[in-house]
Amino acid sequence: MASGAGLASGIGDGEYEGAGASVVGDGAAAVKDADVVLAVRRPSAAALKGAKPGALVIAIMDPHGHEKELAALAKAGVSSFAMELMPRITRAQVMDVLSSQANLAGYRAVVDAAAEFGRAFPMMMTAAGTVPAARVFVMGAGVAGLQAVATARRLGAVVSATDVRPASKEQVESLGAKFIAVEDEEFKQAETAGGYAKQMSAEYQAKQAALTASHIAKQDIVITTALIPGRPAPKLVSAEMVASMKPGSVLIDLAVERGGNVEGAVAGEVVTTANGVKIVGHLNVPGRLAATASQLYAKNLYAFVETLVDKGTKSLAVKWDDELVKATLLTKDGAVVHPGFTAQGD
Ligand code: NAD
Repeated sequence: MASGAGLASGIGDGEYEGAGASVVGDGAAAVKDADVVLAVRRPSAAALKGAKPGALVIAIMDPHGHEKELAALAKAGVSSFAMELMPRITRAQVMDVLSSQANLAGYRAVVDAAAEFGRAFPMMMTAAGTVPAARVFVMGAGVAGLQAVATARRLGAVVSATDVRPASKEQVESLGAKFIAVEDEEFKQAETAGGYAKQMSAEYQAKQAALTASHIAKQDIVITTALIPGRPAPKLVSAEMVASMKPGSVLIDLAVERGGNVEGAVAGEVVTTANGVKIVGHLNVPGRLAATASQLYAKNLYAFVETLVDKGTKSLAVKWDDELVKATLLTKDGAVVHPGFTAQGD
């Protein structure tokens, strides 16, 4: 492995050596002669220059909209796998990097909000007066959103949440938060077979925006997590809604890397608006809990690599027709092979 690769997670080279790894100079030296390359993010073409033809490269590949980079992976001659395309089936739960990282992002969003907010979260009755509980609204109640709801509740906030998936209503309520949504026919039909959100009609979005606009004006903290696979993040909070919030309120946009849910959110920055509202657009939020993110991601990777190895001979034996392989394999034998990306990759 590359020297210093674990430092940001508090793991020194010695610990890797103790576990049987040989530590080499840099990424390029680690890639050379490797049969399997494990990384956090998609390696660049330059990083894979010395890779063995046919080496397995497994990482969070962020393939949507990155046709050029996929073509470069194909050109490098490696078999590359995108961990985030792992199917959400029971067998692959232990490999589900979207869940392992989104859960941390949801937790960290609340911690970041609490740090930016100039007031306390829980209600406090003290001799010097009563402090009201903070009001927290979570938009998008998937893995990240539900963890944000649970964390804000633990800190004593009054929590509400919304989502376009009907199934999320019960989950939000079971965590002790209020569910806020226009529950019409379209809402009832909205969940796709894979459990993901679908794009809602313009009419639904307008109705939902009117309902959430009046709700947002009363909130101290808004945390947005709404994503639709393969599409830009839906815009949920307009500049007018931000302007309706009290000075000192905080918005955390966890979708900022995919275009953002909040108008005015800037990737990698904390913006303070003219009316004193902070819009937080941290990048790679799970990376703000690097040690825990590493621990869980390592387990996701390990579980996947185990399926690529023959237990008897202890050598690589990729079953190319396994549904986990078929769902995640992006490039092989010099070409982009994933059906979701072949049109762009050709
Ligand atoms: P995600 O990260 O793709 O999106 C986050 C949330 O945003 C989702 O709940 C989505 O419905 C919501 N959203 C999208 N557009 C919205 C809008 N306009 N307004 C409000 N909310 C909006 O989702 P995720 O966290 O990956 O979870 C998606 C689903 O997959 C959930 O049902 C989750 O429970 C399920 N899941 C299943 C497994 C499994 O079976 N192994 C594992 C993890 C998650």
